[in-house]
Amino acid sequence: MKEESEKEKKTKKKDKEKGQTWASIKRFIPYFKPYRKIFFKDLFCVFIATLTELAFPQMVRIVTGDASQNGAINLNLVLIVVGALVAMRLLEVVCRYYMVKWGHMSGAYVERDLRENLFRHFQELPHSFYDNNKIGTLMSRISTDLFDITEFAHHCPEEFFMAFIKIVGIFVIMMFFSVPVTLCIFAVLPFMIWFSVYYNGKMRSTFKKNRSQMGELNAMVEDSLSGVRVVKSFANEDVEQHKFAEGNIQFLKIKEENYNYMARYNCGLRIVDALMYVMILLLSAWFNLAPEIIVTYVLYATTLLTSIKSIADYTEQFQKGVTAFERYSEIMDIPVDLCDSPDAVELKDVQGEILYDNVSFAYSKDDKDILHNVSADIKKGEVLAIVGPSGGGKSTFASLLPRFYDVTGGKITVDGKDVKDVTLKSLRQNIGVVQQDVYLFWGTIADNIRYGRLDATREEIIAAAKLAGADEFIEKMPDGYDSYVGERGVKLSGGQKQRISIARVFLKNPPILVLDEATSALDNESEVIVQKSLDTLCKGRTTIVIAHRLSTIRNATKIIVLTDKGIAEEGTHEQLIEKDGLYKKLYDLSTSTGNICW
Ligand code: ADP
Repeated sequence: MKEESEKEKKTKKKDKEKGQTWASIKRFIPYFKPYRKIFFKDLFCVFIATLTELAFPQMVRIVTGDASQNGAINLNLVLIVVGALVAMRLLEVVCRYYMVKWGHMSGAYVERDLRENLFRHFQELPHSFYDNNKIGTLMSRISTDLFDITEFAHHCPEEFFMAFIKIVGIFVIMMFFSVPVTLCIFAVLPFMIWFSVYYNGKMRSTFKKNRSQMGELNAMVEDSLSGVRVVKSFANEDVEQHKFAEGNIQFLKIKEENYNYMARYNCGLRIVDALMYVMILLLSAWFNLAPEIIVTYVLYATTLLTSIKSIADYTEQFQKGVTAFERYSEIMDIPVDLCDSPDAVELKDVQGEILYDNVSFAYSKDDKDILHNVSADIKKGEVLAIVGPSGGGKSTFASLLPRFYDVTGGKITVDGKDVKDVTLKSLRQNIGVVQQDVYLFWGTIADNIRYGRLDATREEIIAAAKLAGADEFIEKMPDGYDSYVGERGVKLSGGQKQRISIARVFLKNPPILVLDEATSALDNESEVIVQKSLDTLCKGRTTIVIAHRLSTIRNATKIIVLTDKGIAEEGTHEQLIEKDGLYKKLYDLSTSTGNICW
């Protein structure tokens, strides 16, 4: 009874998978629509090329049949057949050229479209998506997965169609010569196909295991070698060796399994081959077929066997392609919930009046609120400093203004307009964000500053760099503004990168600023220089600053002390000192270091 329910479960699972595969194919077909002309021409070429291949044994039959009847080869007939063969081969070559070039291209067009859709979707997905996904995995979606889809997209229809025509064509042709022999051969064909598909699948699944074990082994080696100093300092070489040996043995076991299936598959194919030829010879003798018919059967048997092999090969590719497309669809189905409302308006002529009105926020529905009923009012040109313990929600508070995340309660307004009612683009165009982690793109310094405003002239870029205090060090570089920054700006110091990021914001020239611990990762000297640039940047702009430097906090128009219980205190520096509460305690502790550190 229990066994039966297990069986039922398996059948249900298989049915579900079949349903999913079919649904994926139905969803995939429209991607081919713009290229259907190429696709159908490609299938037509497959058809013609396959017919020419099927005609070859017929030519051989004509020549051998004539020779066996007349006792000698008829040269004229041979020449006619050769002529026909050459003509057909030329036709096949033309078709094959189209298939190889344009068959692949139709797949490549689809791949391009899918990649473009995926990249656009990646751009639109909110911060929360990137909080929960690894970039490496997403990269493989855009490369390996899409490649698998393309290969599946054009090879599978071509190869299955070709195998279908061959099998049907050979069946029809063979039936003309001998019905019983043909029926006997085709009776065992399904078994042969099943055998090939089954063992091919087994063999490839061990290849997959093999690849992933190799990946793990590499990761283990990388981890161990990167931490080789720690290993040595703890004299743990034996432990590492032991861990590695386990992985290595596992790798060997998978390889053995792999070669086991490979051997079975190859030997099995040879048996299938032999079985087919033996059957043809025995049946031909049994039914007393003419010699030229036997030759024709043998030649067609070879074609049938290659068709079986290609069905086995492409069944695997089909599965890979469908799985890759399912993974693609999974990403595309993630809703872009943080987008413009249907009646969103442009945020124009911004003064910079900001209001946090009873704002609550949680990163996910199941989490507790990080901010609960928090309110803050920042007038045009004011500086609001947020201080508080790490994890109190300062960065979260700041990231809600440019709508990196949406509030879950209350609202935030800019110049009286709810940020959810204006277009995301215009909102973000009016806010400059300077963060602790500076990201520089591959390219020159000028390219990176220009990112702040893409149509900026060279003079404007230099002016922005001067305002950010970056001009001096840039000019000292070998190629000045045209110096390459290296991957993620490795060729620059932390302070230099930060000044480039500030120059970017100068160029953007937004009326509102968010400075999220922009100087906290810098050494004292760089911090003083960058702070000067930031002070210039803040002039005349409404600023929210997550600060840890006393001088910045002291100069702020208003200070909020944010803890995980909400706003603990707020007021000016003097008011908060007078209040003699949390801020005062913090101030007393930090006057010796100059930094507010909790
Ligand atoms: P602060 O800037 O004051 O150090 P944060 O705003 O960074 O505090 O974090 C506040 C709380 O929110 C912390 O408990 C932190 O773990 C959590 N948190 C921060 N960022 C995320 C995120 N992207 N996803 C989920 N939780 C987060």
